[in-house]
Amino acid sequence: MPRFDELVGQQRPVRVLAGILAKREIPHAFLFTGIDGVGRRTAAMLFAMALNCLTHAEGDGPVHEPCGECRSCRAVISGAHPFVTLVEPVGGVIKIDRIREIVRRISFRPPGAGTRVIIIADAHRMNPEAANALLKSLEEPPPQTIFFLTAENVSDLLPTVVSRCSHVRFNPVPPEAVETFIRDRYQLDKENARLVAAMSEGSIAKALDIAGTPGELDRLARMRRRLCEELYAMPSHRLSAVLAFAERMYKNKDHIDRWLYMILSFLKDAMVVCAGGGKNIANTDVRETVLNIARRESVQSLAAKIDAVLETERAILRNLNLRLSLELMALRLADRCDEKNS
Ligand SMILES: [Zn+2]
Repeated sequence: MPRFDELVGQQRPVRVLAGILAKREIPHAFLFTGIDGVGRRTAAMLFAMALNCLTHAEGDGPVHEPCGECRSCRAVISGAHPFVTLVEPVGGVIKIDRIREIVRRISFRPPGAGTRVIIIADAHRMNPEAANALLKSLEEPPPQTIFFLTAENVSDLLPTVVSRCSHVRFNPVPPEAVETFIRDRYQLDKENARLVAAMSEGSIAKALDIAGTPGELDRLARMRRRLCEELYAMPSHRLSAVLAFAERMYKNKDHIDRWLYMILSFLKDAMVVCAGGGKNIANTDVRETVLNIARRESVQSLAAKIDAVLETERAILRNLNLRLSLELMALRLADRCDEKNS
């Protein structure tokens, strides 16, 4: 378990939480939002440790950093602390029975000065019945009880749940911070660490997964090169090839977020080059292809293509017809930019 001040790229939320712990005026429910793998759950765990740390009780150490070594801290880390409970989705959902069990459990007061902490990870996975069962406890929590909910976006949760929580947003980790972290952790060279950072989409968990899985970096690097070359070639493709591209993405729909993220990132880099900032591109491994795209496109045509990708991301969030959305996007990515240099 890292320390609060070791949560990569999250200085702002850490400052907010440290401030709250220092004042000891602690809201009874928090909502931590942000993408997967940016430290939301770890921050909730650290908070739970800090509140129950036995070394703190003796007045030692900075008030927001748990010692990580006392009996209580070790129990939180191993998942065995009697008053710190982590609720996670099972089969993609958090059901009402699990929430009822929690509500029953918190009706017993923890002994002494202990604070009960309930962490509901991926709270948007609560079905509406479960969310409604939780509402009353969020509104009038028993004494010495604090809830932490994590979700990607505020809009993923019932407004009635959101309104009862103090909201703290965790941003995607900046690529430079991921790069430094991963270099230290895996002793990668600068070029590879930068590549991992570019592929991590701002998620430390993803970066660790890529750097820690043998062969994964090479596999993804090849996939990125192919994807970027395809993006460049799209406007010269026949219609059937454009639709085949959409179909391939559809068949890989489990990784669709990653594909779209990469396409968006390549297009943004091309836009940076078009705007005269060629030194600052993020995807250095595909620099040549990005430069070729930038040579061919105008700022306007790149903006339209970026818009097409964003539109597809929105369509996915709204559960619209994925295949059709991908086909429309592919057609817009294949638009020829004849205005350039005209
Ligand atoms: Zn401790």
